[in-house]
Amino acid sequence: MNPEFLAKLVRALGRDTVITDASEIEPWLTDWRGVYKGGAQAVVRPTSTQQVADCLRLCNEYRVPVVPRGGNTGLCGGATPDASPSNVVISLDRMNRIRSIDTIANTLVADAGCILGNLRRAAEAEGRLLPLSLAAEDSSQIGGNIATNAGGVNVVRYGMARELVLGIEAVLPNGEIFNGLQTLRKDNTGYDLKQLFIGSEGTLGVITGVALKLLPLTRVRSVVLAAVNAPLQALELLRSLYGRCGARLQAYEFFTDECLGLVLEHVDGLQQPFESRHAGYVLVELADTTDEVALQSLLEEVIGDALENGLCEDAIVSASLSQLQTLWRLREEISEAQRADGPHLKHDISLPIERIPEFLVTAEQRLREVVPDCRLFVFGHFGDGNLHYNVSRPAGADRAWAKEWEGRVASAVFSEVADYGGSISAEHGIGQLKRHEFHHHKDPMHIRLMLQIKQIFDPNSIMNPGKLL
Ligand SMILES: Cc1cc2nc3c(=O)[nH]c(=O)nc-3n(C[C@H](O)[C@H](O)[C@H](O)COP(=O)(O)OP(=O)(O)OC[C@H]3O[C@@H](n4cnc5c(N)ncnc54)[C@H](O)[C@@H]3O)c2cc1C
Repeated sequence: MNPEFLAKLVRALGRDTVITDASEIEPWLTDWRGVYKGGAQAVVRPTSTQQVADCLRLCNEYRVPVVPRGGNTGLCGGATPDASPSNVVISLDRMNRIRSIDTIANTLVADAGCILGNLRRAAEAEGRLLPLSLAAEDSSQIGGNIATNAGGVNVVRYGMARELVLGIEAVLPNGEIFNGLQTLRKDNTGYDLKQLFIGSEGTLGVITGVALKLLPLTRVRSVVLAAVNAPLQALELLRSLYGRCGARLQAYEFFTDECLGLVLEHVDGLQQPFESRHAGYVLVELADTTDEVALQSLLEEVIGDALENGLCEDAIVSASLSQLQTLWRLREEISEAQRADGPHLKHDISLPIERIPEFLVTAEQRLREVVPDCRLFVFGHFGDGNLHYNVSRPAGADRAWAKEWEGRVASAVFSEVADYGGSISAEHGIGQLKRHEFHHHKDPMHIRLMLQIKQIFDPNSIMNPGKLL
């Protein structure tokens, strides 16, 4: 801690922007899951890009580590400072202004601290769709979504956050403002530097503004929950849906019966959807700009054929908005149910889609050689090849199990992922959680280039130390 630095920071930004009281700082020092805890000398809550710049310039001058924080819903500890008491956490929560919405160019420009759900609703009020959607959308911020290149439930149709970004405004560690906040659809003028901030997890600078693409609003939605006897059935059902529903396929989610059991145990107001239990479930959403009747009959026809052709075992097609929302809750409440169940070892992995069924068999064999009686919870964005392959303590074991087994379980899961040509992080990023595995599995040449880029942007290494690199 450096009193001179702190005094200058308070003088530059004002008392209402810089929190220094230990008890007030405390809530900013842990992650959403409660797995990590860090230290900080101050939390800064700027209200403008210029204030972010003033803060970073001072931090750089005094070599003070900076941890950018969005909505703190990240699952890899990226927004939680390390143990050093000299950190400064910079929270974007007060930078929450929508700067413009253009319904001809179909763009939205906003401060990075805007809550994703608020942006989605603002776009919808203008008759447009911001398709980035995730269970944490009412607390995560668009700056955090871009810093993690978030995925979510609509990637199968619209792609990851990266594909929606037209422009970025960011503050570099030396206080310079990178003004790439343009809304042009076309700009082939050399290296596209804004891309470097997407997925950078706060290691290159602080994102302060974003320009996003908007799409036609899908006003009508139809959902089916299909029961499957094995992941192979889920794969064949996906193939059939792609062929018959085309771009209307908006979400294709999968969860095993173990996940359903956990949700029913920990979440109020939900019931077992089918008369009997099945090995797994697929939640499919179709969406279109118009013609609810046509969409519903398409889904009923496709699912009817799937049942006849053995591509699923049973199915419930949503008949009302409230039923649609209830079916979605069975999928979206899994993370909350896991949190209530106790620490889960989370592996957000990505695989070649057609190899998922085979992977699930061999990965479980490999895992059970290490820890035979663990409990396995697999769910995720099957249509994108993205599984949350989560492992929890055996029945009867205490909560300390996760810490003790973390390394061995991760090593088994990620080695199997590598054998299949997959990725150890599909959408959550690296943060502090996967730093070790990242260095182990990533091509050394890629890491060298990343370190060189980091050196150019942040020569004094003040940005989010201990994360990613
Ligand atoms: C219930 C639940 C469901 C989820 N579902 C999904 C899902 O489907 N898909 C998915 O991809 N993720 C999902 N997540 C993870 C999480 O919501 C995303 O990673 C999200 O994008 C994080 O945004 P945030 O604002 O909360 O960022 P934070 O958690 O605050 O930060 C995440 C990282 O971004 C950096 N950062 C934050 N803001 C900025 C900024 N302005 N400038 C520079 N760096 C910044 C931080 O330093 C940190 O490294 C889920 C999380 C929960 C709790």
